Amino acid sequence: METTTPAAAAADLTRRVRGPVLLPGQRGYDQERAGFNLAVEQRPALVVGATGAADVRAAVGFAADHALPVAVQATGHGAGRPIDGGLLVTTRRMADVHVDATARTARVGAGVRWSQVVERAAPFGLAPLNGSSPLVGAVGYTLGGGLPVLSRTFGWAADHVRGIDLVTADGRSRSVGPDRDADLFWALRGGRNGFGVVTSMEIGLVPVAELYGGGLHFPGEQASRVLHAWREWTGEVPETMNSSVALLRLPDTDGVPAPLRGRRTVHVRVAHTGPADEGAALLRPLRDLGPRLLDTVGTIPYTAIGAVHQDPTLPQSYDERSLMLRAFDGPAVDTLVEAAGPGPGTGIVMAEVRHLGGALGREPRHPGALDHRDAAFSLSLLTPPAGTAEAGPSPAEELLARMEPWGTGRRFLNFLGGPGGSGLAHEAFTPEALARLAAVKAAHDPGGLFPAAHLLPAGSGSGS
Ligand SMILES: Cc1cc2nc3c(=O)[nH]c(=O)nc-3n(C[C@H](O)[C@H](O)[C@H](O)COP(=O)(O)OP(=O)(O)OC[C@H]3O[C@@H](n4cnc5c(N)ncnc54)[C@H](O)[C@@H]3O)c2cc1C
Repeated sequence: METTTPAAAAADLTRRVRGPVLLPGQRGYDQERAGFNLAVEQRPALVVGATGAADVRAAVGFAADHALPVAVQATGHGAGRPIDGGLLVTTRRMADVHVDATARTARVGAGVRWSQVVERAAPFGLAPLNGSSPLVGAVGYTLGGGLPVLSRTFGWAADHVRGIDLVTADGRSRSVGPDRDADLFWALRGGRNGFGVVTSMEIGLVPVAELYGGGLHFPGEQASRVLHAWREWTGEVPETMNSSVALLRLPDTDGVPAPLRGRRTVHVRVAHTGPADEGAALLRPLRDLGPRLLDTVGTIPYTAIGAVHQDPTLPQSYDERSLMLRAFDGPAVDTLVEAAGPGPGTGIVMAEVRHLGGALGREPRHPGALDHRDAAFSLSLLTPPAGTAEAGPSPAEELLARMEPWGTGRRFLNFLGGPGGSGLAHEAFTPEALARLAAVKAAHDPGGLFPAAHLLPAGSGSGS
């Protein structure tokens, strides 16, 4: 396999695509390959800034002719192993959003961020099933399963996909759905990458214009008390109440609200889709726990959905690991607080538990490869990337090993990021689902043009 691309061949590709074709050293190359996770530095042999499906077909055909592996990047929020020496298709120019208010659907281009869908759907009183950060790419998130802020109320984003357009390894555009190329449609909804380049997707929207939502920020010293109270509370709340708790070590920087800067905090995030007075009554036991450093919960338009989790908006350097949990009982809380709570630093900068169940547990009419319907909670951990002085021996894996008694045995693909987390992608699936994914891959990408970590035989090198 070639690891460099002759400039003449790249010039030929430049004539066939509308977007930029960039080689290492050329102006714009570094900007085009950069993503949100600074811990992953991709050094592709060339980058194609696709403007539409025709550009993607040309890029995929070129890669096949030159035996170059292909990876896709929208925002780089889910960056895993770098596609060094291959061809990187960037999709940020494919940013069309078309809302059909009557059908309650949106057709989104491959490079669309959730914030763009939120803005376009809001005038119709509709909302997409986006996650905590509106800056994440709609397509990459949904291909990985998509755990929305309104998860218990409406379920996985992947369950709301109506159809997917993609370019497969043969260089053809296909429209797949429940009745067309059903095997690919199954694999893409949860199996994410390794099957082709998705050029657009039709997704369902939900009728939500406003929420009772925001965050309760408690001092880090209250971690044990707050987490015990929260986990008991999750046993009583209806499906209209969505929540999570994060143990945070916040930096002392301008982007962090003044009362929280440089502190350890416990951040309870809530998003209630029912009436505000009902939401306030449900939240009362948590507010009664004591003084908050900050309390932002109130009625907000759906367009302010990013305020619920307050995820960072500037690029960061991190590794992310996850474990899906069957249960989160008192001893599980103690185990988590001991390792990630207010005691001496273990290198874990965020430990987040999300309350699952509700609609997430129900089978949709057309299930996909996503398979976490048995999970009652999700646990994800952020650490500095392995290899930095701060990181030390993987504190995240040490903690996850201790949490195994409560685990389902599987991880959530979307919560495996960075150099270390992405290598665990195969652990997101049951053996049966992995075998079925491998069969779909063999049928549609027999030459392995689209490497994917979770679809490689064990011990056979890297993928993205
Ligand atoms: C701050 C933050 C908050 C998050 N919150 C949530 C959350 O609430 N719920 C949740 O489920 N996830 C969440 N995630 C995880 C996020 O959904 C994944 O990282 C997702 O993969 C990001 O997609 P992207 O396209 O933005 O990123 P990218 O890094 O550009 O892409 C991620 C992966 O998707 C593949 N991909 C992207 N576009 C295409 C395409 N067109 N065709 C084929 N493959 C493609 C890429 O190959 C890559 O493997 C969060 C991540 C961050 C950093």
